[in-house]
Amino acid sequence: TTFASLGLLPELQQALQSLGYEHATPIQAQGIPAILAGQDIMAGAQTGSGKTAAFALPILNQLSTQKLSESLSEQAPIRALILTPTRELALQVHSSFVKYGKHTQLKSALVYGGVSIDAQAKVLSAGVDILIATPGRLLDHLRRGSLTLDSIDFLVFDEADRMLDMGFKDEIDALVSQLPKTRQTLLFSATFDESIYSLSKTLLRDPKLIEV
Ligand code: AMP
Repeated sequence: TTFASLGLLPELQQALQSLGYEHATPIQAQGIPAILAGQDIMAGAQTGSGKTAAFALPILNQLSTQKLSESLSEQAPIRALILTPTRELALQVHSSFVKYGKHTQLKSALVYGGVSIDAQAKVLSAGVDILIATPGRLLDHLRRGSLTLDSIDFLVFDEADRMLDMGFKDEIDALVSQLPKTRQTLLFSATFDESIYSLSKTLLRDPKLIEV
């Protein structure tokens, strides 16, 4: 499957071309059309499968299409929230959004614990379209009022199994309670057990299941 046949915007295809990506990986070939069509997805995906591009590309595509019809001078509300279990994964996901989105007008930012919260709050106050976050620090920002999540269109769980293994269930529940009910939710997990299924039942609506 080529990226052109998936119907992505020219500015995204251009970024992929300069990175030397020619063909979509299986999770991208199945995931991108479903996400572009507005579906929730629940995907079994290992690191190395290309899972990051499978959610980053359609999110960039949809937000970029909307952004064109908005005033660029307005402060952007956060439209996509990507939750990751660790700072390392958050950094990787953020750098993927920057690479794939380099020809778009979209801004992405990163929040994780262990560093100054003030510096992060300052970045957020300038307006951000896409936020990549670890759960604990994101809750700290919400309590301080440095961001709101009431304009979220896309919620992504990356490595959901590790998030649960690390004990983030309560944080996830607290975060989800602050999100709009009408949104698209994408869940990626390397493994599936009862706890993932029960999480997915409360979070996903009629998800497309993708196994690669
Ligand atoms: P991930 O599974 O998201 O961690 O991605 C694994 C690696 O594959 C990353 O280094 C990506 O840059 C690369 N990658 C993702 N999709 C493609 C693709 N369609 N063609 C070539 N490389 C890719």
